[in-house]
Amino acid sequence: MPHASFLELLCPWPGCGFQIWFIDFRLEFVDRALYDQGVAAWESGAGLIGRCPGCGRRVLFNLNGKFRVDGDGDPAGPQER
Ligand SMILES: [Zn+2]
Repeated sequence: MPHASFLELLCPWPGCGFQIWFIDFRLEFVDRALYDQGVAAWESGAGLIGRCPGCGRRVLFNLNGKFRVDGDGDPAGPQER
């Protein structure tokens, strides 16, 4: 699974302050189909959504950085921080 390290460390959610400097989704340990989808999403630039270990809120990770994801549906796209 692709890994990423970030120059901007802080979680994108206001007031969180958790430093996310590296991420490894480890989808290969979950399911092969999910892994293939994750690699395709990463390589396409769409990215993957995970939860911040600090605040538990959803974050979109892609090659451009980290972005808040509101609600439980699909993200509307990267948002201003
Ligand atoms: Zn956070």
